[in-house]
Amino acid sequence: MNAQRVISDLRELASHTSTPEGAQRLAWGPVWREAREWFRGKVAELGLRVQSDSAGNNWVTLGGRSPATVIVGSHLDSVPNGGWLDGALGVMAALEALRMYVNTQPPATLKLVDWADEEGARFGRSLLGSSAAAGSLNIEAVRELTDRQGTRLVDALAENGVMLDQMLDAHRELKTIEAGAYLELHIEQGPVLESMNKSTGVVLGTFGVERHMLRFTGQAAHSGSTPIPMRRDAFLAAAETALECREIAKRHSKPSAGVVCTVGIVNVEPKIVTAVPGICEISLDQRALDPNVLAIMLREARDASARIARDNNVTVEWRNLWRIEPRPFDPALVRLCEDAVREETGEAPRLPSGPLHDAAEMVPHMPVVMMFAYSSNGLSHCKEEDTPPQHLEKTIRAFLRLVQKTVLHVATA
Ligand SMILES: [Zn+2]
Repeated sequence: MNAQRVISDLRELASHTSTPEGAQRLAWGPVWREAREWFRGKVAELGLRVQSDSAGNNWVTLGGRSPATVIVGSHLDSVPNGGWLDGALGVMAALEALRMYVNTQPPATLKLVDWADEEGARFGRSLLGSSAAAGSLNIEAVRELTDRQGTRLVDALAENGVMLDQMLDAHRELKTIEAGAYLELHIEQGPVLESMNKSTGVVLGTFGVERHMLRFTGQAAHSGSTPIPMRRDAFLAAAETALECREIAKRHSKPSAGVVCTVGIVNVEPKIVTAVPGICEISLDQRALDPNVLAIMLREARDASARIARDNNVTVEWRNLWRIEPRPFDPALVRLCEDAVREETGEAPRLPSGPLHDAAEMVPHMPVVMMFAYSSNGLSHCKEEDTPPQHLEKTIRAFLRLVQKTVLHVATA
């Protein structure tokens, strides 16, 4: 295995597809196609070839002694003015995994996948290619999407040989693979590994989300003439609820897999300095990896809001905005990932993923695990995105070890 070669591939890709403002591999556009063309050349050097599925995802197959398959991948597309590692790191590491085995017959079959349009930066739908392969894409929900220039998604897809109405065929194609594992290396895009000064982390899964608006209704009243005990202050009830929700999240946080909650929106009415707020609306976004913990956090927040509303002589109503269930990764693969990371770096910190990834779409269909690399200053989706070389090299080596372990694991399963 050669971690240095992965880094020089990444540098080469960046030199072809970046401006001084960062990576410009926007999905379905010319620079993205150039990146994929360049990648096709890299694959051809190994005597292998790239095949596209009905959703525009690109696959490379290296047959093994067993049809049981380890899929390794990520995405080549980037946001505009993006970083050099987001997505590309996982694809180049997957290429190196193929190189490791190309002159041998591996015990299990290896497939590299470059998912199409992970970022959703142009049309606003993330995980487009992987959700089509997973069968979870709602075609009608994306049919009318346009980009800022007014180009329709259907036309951008057609320009790239993808027919919207046939995208879900990619799911049938995925089901023909005897998939024993899906592995993805990605940068953390957050500050946790850096704060621990750790090169590499084992990812336990992607967070589930419960997102609601809470509307507190009291009575607007004059701020001078209404004694405090006689007020029905909707804002104070909302504020107390927000503080209580923070306590709920703290209580359920474990150092290894912290849960989070955020009140990001506050609206009060009538919004006058001399009026007690009669109405206050707050948003509440709760996230956790464990579905039971997420359900308990939600119930506790509901109970707290009802109690606090009563104490303040106001009422409260909840309205759901969005929810997604947690996608925990496969315990056996998480253990292999821990072994690989520990062997390379001495320790194996575990952390959940706040952002969604293509890997999350594969969870219902096969065992999945991800590995994270240290992100400098926790930054991503910008030209400053980076991982210091010593951390990057260690992480790539740990990931290639994980591929080796998983190939054996899947071949003997
Ligand atoms: Zn990414």
